[in-house]
Amino acid sequence: MEKTGVAIVGLGNVGQGVAQLLLDHGDRTARHAGRTLWLTHVVVRDITKPRNVDLPDGVLTDDLSRLIRDNSVKVVAQLIGGIEPARTIMLQLLESGKDVVTANKALLAEHGPELFDRARQLGRSIAFEASVAGGIPIITNVSQCLSANQIVSLRAILNGTSNYIISKMDGEGSDYRSALAEAQQLGLAEADPAMDVDGTDAAQKLAILAHLCFGARVHWSEIPRRGIDSIDECDMQFSKHLGYRIKLIAFAKLVGSGVQLMVAPMLVKSGEPLAEVKANFNAISVVGDAVGPVFFHGQGAGPMPTASAVVADMIDTAVGRTAITFKTLELWADGHKRVDFASPGDLEGRYYMRFDVVDQPGVLGQITGRLGQHRISIASVYQHETQSDRQQTVPIVIMTHHAKESAARAAMKQIADMPTVADSPERFRILS
Ligand code: NAP
Repeated sequence: MEKTGVAIVGLGNVGQGVAQLLLDHGDRTARHAGRTLWLTHVVVRDITKPRNVDLPDGVLTDDLSRLIRDNSVKVVAQLIGGIEPARTIMLQLLESGKDVVTANKALLAEHGPELFDRARQLGRSIAFEASVAGGIPIITNVSQCLSANQIVSLRAILNGTSNYIISKMDGEGSDYRSALAEAQQLGLAEADPAMDVDGTDAAQKLAILAHLCFGARVHWSEIPRRGIDSIDECDMQFSKHLGYRIKLIAFAKLVGSGVQLMVAPMLVKSGEPLAEVKANFNAISVVGDAVGPVFFHGQGAGPMPTASAVVADMIDTAVGRTAITFKTLELWADGHKRVDFASPGDLEGRYYMRFDVVDQPGVLGQITGRLGQHRISIASVYQHETQSDRQQTVPIVIMTHHAKESAARAAMKQIADMPTVADSPERFRILS
């Protein structure tokens, strides 16, 4: 059988999974590729570090130039995280005539246009299924299988670490710190989990999906975002009582004036598929104008789920399928217009609002009066019973009907300034 030389750069969590799949299941990959994917080089920083995979002699190296010079290698899985040296190495690989597969969403979200342009100039390709939602094949689905559709909306859980933490807070009543510590112990969260919990990672993935779904260029930093790091446990409990779960949602919707994009914790009705996504799982709900709603659910991270996507990309690249789609899709090409953002103030939505108020007569009327001034009508009010006579404030939760973001923001500010309302009222969108 014909052999295609393949290589891996970076033998961390994902790299080890990829090596294991290539070495242990060569028959499987050969059946799908119609050729053997022959692993010839695995490049790392430190060759003395213990690894969980047994490589054939002579494959492990810390010398990237050996791989660059080897013309028998056609496909390289580039599995180093972060921006540099990942960007420079990817350019070197492309320039040496190799097609690249990557799982690095941060690199693509930051430098996608440059890297894709360079690959096109050189007649090479970049495949990146694993960069969004790990093992869920969402890139191929939105860019190929659903290509007869205009995608009209997308709602997704794209960060497994955040979902694990809020599932723990919601299901077991854990507080944020202990849920985060547990996620770190299980290896689900980075030593520095900031980008997972502050919404950056989800915004980077949403920027990639927004480009594929809506055909427009957007930089992740332009997407309004809030993470889970400031969620109060009491809001998880009140939401649950009202029949909702709080989830970190990456949201995109096509409206007349452009695309609405945001990443934020939102209330999702219990029982809806997105509300039931537990632990470190990811899910994506896409609505196409022809197909209607389609739902994807699976493991968004982890060595083997991510390796599943990487190896599938290596097979597609080796047989030449990636080259065709890469060329026709013109990803991040200059000709694409920039996305028109629907003005954030015009976003319509329902809201959950919580105010901690002084327990005295008339306060609820003052709050509802302020909301009325901003044309925000109330769907329901929930007031928790006072626990003791000495309690200084009591929480009032209001669920609104549809209102503009700008009106909700202005009303919240006015209410926060009332002397009977304690600091920091809270507001979440209700996904509808
Ligand atoms: P990781 O465990 O930190 O591994 C990174 C690897 O890159 C290490 O083996 C490291 O070598 C190697 N490396 C770093 N700098 C290098 C250099 N200059 N030359 C050669 N090798 C170098 O990372 P990971 O979790 O596997 O993630 C890899 C990529 O996949 C990231 O972009 C990540 O965002 C993405 N991703 C990860 C997951 C997941 O579940 N982990 C899921 C989806 C996407 P040494 O081992 O010698 O230090």
